[in-house]
Amino acid sequence: MDSPAPARPGDDIGAIDTPALIVDLDALDANIALMAQHARASNMALRPHAKTHKSVEIVRRQVAAGAVGICCQKVSEAQALVPSGVTDILISNHIVGAAKLERLAALARNVRITTLTSDIRHVAELEDAARRYDATLEILIELDAGDARMGLLDEAALLPLAEAIGAAPHLKLRGLQVYNGPFQHLRPQADRAAAARAAAERAERARVTLESAGISCEVISGGGTGTFAEDAALGALTELQPGSYVFMDGDYARNFSADGLPYRPFRQSLFVLTRVLRSPAADFVYVDAGVKALNLDSGMPTLHERSDLVFTKASDEQGRIETLPGGTTPDLGELLWIVPSHCDPTVNQFDWMVAVRNGRVADVWPVDARGCVL
Ligand SMILES: *Cc1c(COP(=O)(O)O)cnc(C)c1O
Repeated sequence: MDSPAPARPGDDIGAIDTPALIVDLDALDANIALMAQHARASNMALRPHAKTHKSVEIVRRQVAAGAVGICCQKVSEAQALVPSGVTDILISNHIVGAAKLERLAALARNVRITTLTSDIRHVAELEDAARRYDATLEILIELDAGDARMGLLDEAALLPLAEAIGAAPHLKLRGLQVYNGPFQHLRPQADRAAAARAAAERAERARVTLESAGISCEVISGGGTGTFAEDAALGALTELQPGSYVFMDGDYARNFSADGLPYRPFRQSLFVLTRVLRSPAADFVYVDAGVKALNLDSGMPTLHERSDLVFTKASDEQGRIETLPGGTTPDLGELLWIVPSHCDPTVNQFDWMVAVRNGRVADVWPVDARGCVL
């Protein structure tokens, strides 16, 4: 990495340069262990989504806890995470275009690569790339998950698509994918449960269609941080692919559990540490984290354990934080812990992730796949 690291192992928190991406190691490890235990208890494979953290070190921890492999969203992201030693990667996306297909097929010579399709015209492109590299690409057919996004909409197209994949010598059909991102964030638990049920029913129908035609369907992959418990209980999926659970974020904190309380199945482990640049009045300050250190597509971030402070505005390099009546306005130079509103794109803003434990810097990790959008 070209940018300077914000801290060194052994530093105390006050020595961290800001704005810095921070991961609380105890919370991270607890989250990784809890999801692994949940998957084991539900008899499901766990394939965490690495687009959330983009980190070799975190992939290693997930695999050590029992993950069968990882998901990546981009081929370049997968390439950047191969040094973790992971040998089984699902690119949970549709890889289109010559440059990407080349890199995908080349990667499949070294590690087991599975990817998605829902279009018979795409099958020919995948086969052509795999043939040129004498590689095998394993394929999941992506089903529509109720959002009319990337999945197969026309159920009658399933068998012809599966047969085309089966007829391609360098492709191997492994099963189905059904994932809906926005549905993970439906606020009432009953709505997330209904969405998960609809997806499970679609997957179940597709599995029966394939198996009735003598086509085996070994894997049905899906589910995320908002529906992992419902997905497991429904029993249609064989594999869970949650991502955000390692960190959590402000948007997931706005979901509700079945009991109507805030959705907190995992601990908040990700923060942006920021420093007060200017404290000129009794009711507001400016800090050194703005749009280039945060991501605001899910709204403004919040402040960890500071319910008296509200992050109200961000410019490129600065944020404005206001003090509620009766609250305490931070001083010049004071450190504040921002809870990102959307973890994945926030991580992508930083070259380094500072791992802290017991009030000290335990380690400083590169965000290995930062910027890997290709
Ligand atoms: C982002 C993503 C996930 C993980 O979702 P979370 O809500 O972060 O748990 C799983 N599968 C696919 C295809 C995704 O794009």
